[in-house]
Amino acid sequence: MSRIVKIGKISIGGGNPIAIQSMTNTDTRDTKATLEQINALYRAGCDLVRVSIPDFESLDAFAAIVKCSPVPLIADIHYDYRLAIGAIEKGASKVRINPGNIGQSWKVREIVSAAKDYGIPIRVGANSGSIKESFKAYETKAIALAESALEETHILESLGFYDIVISAKSSSVIETIEANKYISSKVDYPLHIGVTEAGIFETAVVKSSVGIGTLLLEGIGDTIRVSIAGDPLTEVRIAKKLLKSLNLREGVEVIACPTCARTEIDVESLAYDVENWLEGLDKNLTVAVMGCVVNGIGEGKDADIGIAGTASGAVIFTKGEIVKRVKKDILKRDFLKLVKEYLRKN
Ligand code: SF4
Repeated sequence: MSRIVKIGKISIGGGNPIAIQSMTNTDTRDTKATLEQINALYRAGCDLVRVSIPDFESLDAFAAIVKCSPVPLIADIHYDYRLAIGAIEKGASKVRINPGNIGQSWKVREIVSAAKDYGIPIRVGANSGSIKESFKAYETKAIALAESALEETHILESLGFYDIVISAKSSSVIETIEANKYISSKVDYPLHIGVTEAGIFETAVVKSSVGIGTLLLEGIGDTIRVSIAGDPLTEVRIAKKLLKSLNLREGVEVIACPTCARTEIDVESLAYDVENWLEGLDKNLTVAVMGCVVNGIGEGKDADIGIAGTASGAVIFTKGEIVKRVKKDILKRDFLKLVKEYLRKN
């Protein structure tokens, strides 16, 4: 089991819940927009948010942002050690650096010293795109990636710093899995896992589910990021569903039939509606949205509560038993009433 590392109010590793991480894609200098996005990510279920600090103007904005953030913020720094130290002093709960690109060792030492003073962890790691030439002699790219991340780790260890989170990311699912397995067999630092540059929606969802899911099933990974080109809110929604599917997070799961010639209701749009109606409910609840009563009630009997389409509206059922027949216009009202009742009794 990985060791425990505290990132602000969130503890990761050591069997703590898997934390969901995302990253703002606003201009950090735009304090208002960045804070709005952080708040939206928090409301969507994000535990940790990473913010890039590419320059000193962004650092000034970060100081204001961090004061109002509802979640611990991770400062993402490249090259300039002064930005890392500034972010630590201004309230970052973790900094993400690559000691290898910070430059002279005294600069890394300064960052480590500030992190020690403020009691915050440092995330180090490697991406498959930035593996050094000297590592390419390893037998596989995955091992080269893992060893690159471990080299960064050893730099911090050599400075007496052990409050470390490691990441090793590749846009290849197989490389990501193998590299993280390798690292977890060598050290017990918590791992931040994800398939990087995973792509646009469908591709990213598939790659992240396989990559992150495989590792989590093997007990590897303490924080996750589902990387999707676009709105980070989508990353968080997918991450929640991913964790929920592995019973690693409480919440609502809406299952839906694939539809066929018997379908008597718009299953897809109703399933989206049900997700929206129940958004924010952090209780375990499985809801089935089925196209017909012929097979729908039987096939959905493992769900806690379900809706099946009929010619004149729908039926609401719990554990395979019809509880109520409703017209479409009052479906939402009656369904939510029955959900409330179900949760009260169970
Ligand atoms: S539940 Fe009914 S509508 Fe949905 S796939 Fe099965 S038979 Fe078809």
